[in-house]
Amino acid sequence: MAPNRANLRMAAAPEHSRILLTHAIVVTLDHDDRVLFDAAVAVADGVIVAVGEPPADFEADEVVDLGGRVVMPGLYNAHTHAAMTFARGYAEDLPLERWFNERIWRLESALTPEMVYWGTLLAMAEMIRGGVVGFADHYFYMDRVAEAVTAAGMRANLAWAVFGRPDEAEVGITVPQTVDFVRRYNGAADGRLRAMFGPHSPYLCPDAFLARTAAVAVREHIGIHIHAAETAAQVQASLARYDMTPIEFLADRGLFETQALVAHAIHTTDVDLEILARKGVCVAVCPTTHLKYAMGVARVPDMLRRGITVVLGTDGAGSSTALNLWREMRLLVLTQRLATGDPTVLAGSWPLRLAAVNGAYALGFDKAGMIAPGYAADLIIVDTAAPHFQPLHDVMAALVWCTQPADVRDVMVAGRWLLRDRRLLTLDEATILAGFRAELERMLTRPLGQFKAYAV
Ligand SMILES: [Zn+2]
Repeated sequence: MAPNRANLRMAAAPEHSRILLTHAIVVTLDHDDRVLFDAAVAVADGVIVAVGEPPADFEADEVVDLGGRVVMPGLYNAHTHAAMTFARGYAEDLPLERWFNERIWRLESALTPEMVYWGTLLAMAEMIRGGVVGFADHYFYMDRVAEAVTAAGMRANLAWAVFGRPDEAEVGITVPQTVDFVRRYNGAADGRLRAMFGPHSPYLCPDAFLARTAAVAVREHIGIHIHAAETAAQVQASLARYDMTPIEFLADRGLFETQALVAHAIHTTDVDLEILARKGVCVAVCPTTHLKYAMGVARVPDMLRRGITVVLGTDGAGSSTALNLWREMRLLVLTQRLATGDPTVLAGSWPLRLAAVNGAYALGFDKAGMIAPGYAADLIIVDTAAPHFQPLHDVMAALVWCTQPADVRDVMVAGRWLLRDRRLLTLDEATILAGFRAELERMLTRPLGQFKAYAV
């Protein structure tokens, strides 16, 4: 029998509204960057209510003794195409243009809503296991992604990718439909979902379409998630076509007049960075993809100096191959130190803060990403008992440099456990793998056509 959606909900997590975590190393990532030893965290109705000492009158439904393990905010993957797990390892060792034109967009011509559904479920199983509690997703058939996220219990910000070209019917959605999509899902799943517009990029979307999208976004108070300034060639083409860099062009067409999340922004001028800072644009860097496709190094220290909210993404598994934010953190620090010649860049808790509090903010969750009263109980427990953590001279350094996804023992989103003792509670892995494989097999038998031609 073919697996169906219904059996994913077989393992509903027991609901505890008041949870007390005790004997923990609490890495708060709060404004004072406090690390507390042998401390407690109290959670009530999905929100952190006390840190350090539990309130004397706190009556817990569940007490978890962490025995010296680390509890810290969960991580938010601020740019991905989750469903693209189906393209993991499908287009390796190619320049970006050939990766798009010869492999990925041809494969996507056979894409089905079912593949998006199962691919996203597989991605979430991987992400939850790696300590990711939320993600900003940019892809197609996003109503199926919303369905999958609702079942999984994660947070997500969903953007339906649109090209705005005459052949738009190929991807099955238009601007009015994306407005409907946003209205339907923004704030859904008990507030765990956010939705934005997802125009693909300034190099693939027509000028007039981008301006129209921006006008609707401003009028309807809808955010925008878009790719830009990924390669030097894109910047050159933009200068030739518009006499503006991609960032200047997006600003000029009004896309930064609403909350914007720009993926990549690798090739930027000082003027670009001033625009991004002034407009409060969040920039998602995806170090594995940037390095793997030799795209360049984003100017992260310059961005942070100007107050730009820099966030971390894995991009899709079709390019980065793994949805591992710990690896992205380390690659970010390593490339920035090599590029700047400064071994103090992104020191201490910086990488964790980009992935936690900055990531939550970019996804549209203001009160998440740190352990402080009033913040969402999106928590992960890291087991530091493994040899690769010993000795624990510096907890922050250990988390940044040593953590592997498999060290994440437990994951909680909005006070609900999604992972306990390495066991997924809301997703059934065997069902997901069977559904994913069956749909991928079907998809690979479909004739591949031409999708969008990538040309800057
Ligand atoms: Zn991307």
